[in-house]
Amino acid sequence: MRILVTGGAGFIGSALIRHVLQTSDHHILNVDVLSYAGNLGSLAQVQGHPNYTFSQTNICDATQIAMHLQQFRPDIIIHLAAESHVDRSIDGPAQFIQTNIVGTYTLLEQSRQYWEGLSSQNKQNFRFHHVSTDEVYGDLGRTDALFTEMTAYNPSSPYSASKASSDHLVRAWHRSYGLPVVLSNCSNNYGPYQFPEKLIPHMLLSALKGQPLPVYGAGDQVRDWLYVDDHVRALIAVATRGRIGETYNIGGKQEKKNLDVVQAICSILEELHLGKPAGLARYSDLITFVEDRPGHDQRYAIDASKITTELGWQAQESFETGLRKTVLWYLENTSWWERILNGAYRLDRLGKQA
Ligand code: NAD
Repeated sequence: MRILVTGGAGFIGSALIRHVLQTSDHHILNVDVLSYAGNLGSLAQVQGHPNYTFSQTNICDATQIAMHLQQFRPDIIIHLAAESHVDRSIDGPAQFIQTNIVGTYTLLEQSRQYWEGLSSQNKQNFRFHHVSTDEVYGDLGRTDALFTEMTAYNPSSPYSASKASSDHLVRAWHRSYGLPVVLSNCSNNYGPYQFPEKLIPHMLLSALKGQPLPVYGAGDQVRDWLYVDDHVRALIAVATRGRIGETYNIGGKQEKKNLDVVQAICSILEELHLGKPAGLARYSDLITFVEDRPGHDQRYAIDASKITTELGWQAQESFETGLRKTVLWYLENTSWWERILNGAYRLDRLGKQA
């Protein structure tokens, strides 16, 4: 199979590419603009793989996308490219509108034209898989029922609103033009190679440096956490076996308060008996409560029974084991995140250009 992945230099996309190339003989074209979040260092272990090609391309560039589709001739597109950080979307929404909405539109329109030109057999087999988030559903109260695929959209941040818009566009391209699409909406991911601005790596690396661990509000916001490799297996199941036109919610049934996540990171660091930064008695002493961010949703939680029933997927990693693996990975791979913190990763252009 030939799979075009967008956003493959990001956290989830790079995990997907590493997994596919390690476990199958599929060919992959990774189309990624290398924004601040794109990091070819996350793909170092697949560089030079005969089935892997990288192209530094913006999904908003219709001409480049059309060229890639004609030359690579994918059977499946897995679309992950996005601006993905909620805080950044509040500070500067324009790039989120551009990449998440205009970029998805551009990709859909070029995919439609490519798909319409396929032979009837290839047309039937083609799939466009749009990767989205549970944040499109908005806020859940403590005792509300979990998000299902039927939950009405109610996004709160520019990020989630732009992802909601892109989901609607994908469904419209299916309804209006017949483009064979599948969608998935997933809960918070964590694991190795996650950009240090996200909650878990940010707290972990700050703790290692003895810096404050800023927790929004009282830290009682609840998120449903999923280990990234579990998400990758779900994405492959949806992309290859999901029913056309359907949406699948993906989640790990691991609801945690943000404060508990930060405390769990501190506890793991304590157990590892690392040399602590000077003057620090306990890592948890670094926890500092800061003013909550505007529009901060209280709770997200996913009902993943559809993907379990239809596609036989379920999360394998518990939050406790996944978090420990993640902490150990960051401790063992300091050069990966140091190159981000000092900016050197932006100079990497290790990829094989298409
Ligand atoms: P990420 O920010 O780590 O990676 C995004 C990638 O997209 C980067 O490599 C970046 O260079 C690339 N990109 C950005 N703009 C682009 C453009 N205009 N053209 C081409 N490439 C571009 O994000 P992630 O955490 O890996 O998330 C991937 C996808 O999964 C996103 O669509 C996100 O909404 C969705 N998602 C993420 C989570 C999560 O917890 N991280 C949960 C659910 C869904």
